[in-house]
Amino acid sequence: MAELDLQGLLAEVAREMEPHRGEGAVADYIPPLARVDPRRFGMAIITCDGRAAEVGDAWMPFSIQSISKVFTLTMALEKHGEALWRRVGREPSGSRFNSIVQLEAEKGVPRNPFINAGAIVVTDAVLSERRPDEAIAEIRDFFRKLADNDTIDIDREVAEQEAATGFRNFSLANFMKGFGNIHAAVEDSLHTYFNQCAIRITCRQLARAGLFLANGGVDPIRGERITSAERVRRINAIMLTCGHYDASGEFAFQVGLPGKSGVGGGILAIVPGHAAIAVWSPGLNEAGNSQVGTLALEKLVRRTDWNVFD
Ligand code: GLN
Repeated sequence: MAELDLQGLLAEVAREMEPHRGEGAVADYIPPLARVDPRRFGMAIITCDGRAAEVGDAWMPFSIQSISKVFTLTMALEKHGEALWRRVGREPSGSRFNSIVQLEAEKGVPRNPFINAGAIVVTDAVLSERRPDEAIAEIRDFFRKLADNDTIDIDREVAEQEAATGFRNFSLANFMKGFGNIHAAVEDSLHTYFNQCAIRITCRQLARAGLFLANGGVDPIRGERITSAERVRRINAIMLTCGHYDASGEFAFQVGLPGKSGVGGGILAIVPGHAAIAVWSPGLNEAGNSQVGTLALEKLVRRTDWNVFD
């Protein structure tokens, strides 16, 4: 790794992305996402030995959206251990991120923790018996600690508008409540979920926050264990198989790394044993994943041996 020129690598990838900037469709279900400039592009890498590089808009906060699901999964596993798997599966869904179709046949137990239904169950498990505000602060503080940055916060406008327009998420949560798989009041679980999705974060902060996933559960910079090596192996496995919804197979094929996307246009990708990478470009492909972000990761992986299948 020491021989890799990270900054040069990112500069080359950014150059290659230049003709693609603006591709894809920015999420438009709420105004604060719809008004983001589609030409934005940022990328950041941090390695387990503490080297970091970034390019473009890596300093600029964006809406974390579904990437938050990786972190709440970590929290829920720490709180509930293996019992969590009675409430949510770990099988790819082959369906869109907000699909309801499998839930009835599967008795309110969502396929995996990264589709919306599964993430709402996981957030309900993080919430446990507490007030939503406590859980929201705990989630925010987890990001602040992992990213080593106390400025990370929740975009209230995004959180409010997620709630005002989140009819499908309300349907999913109510449906699962009918099967007894949402324990708190539906409004409380969703309020917590909408706030976790509304966290504003930069590529630089996101890569730093995800670094423990590249290093067997230990944050290598502060030397603190966040979760066990076994859990990290499993979280990475679910990122690889489910992190991009019904395009997870395609992402594994093109990029070959565990990754998690969000409709804000961000992707967190993990190179086990080596590095965490965050990329942001707001235009989404058909499956709701960053189009240019995915392409940038593909180019980056081609220039390195960073592929879990090599
Ligand atoms: N807030 C979005 C939702 O719940 C998150 C979806 C996503 O990023 N894929 O619908």
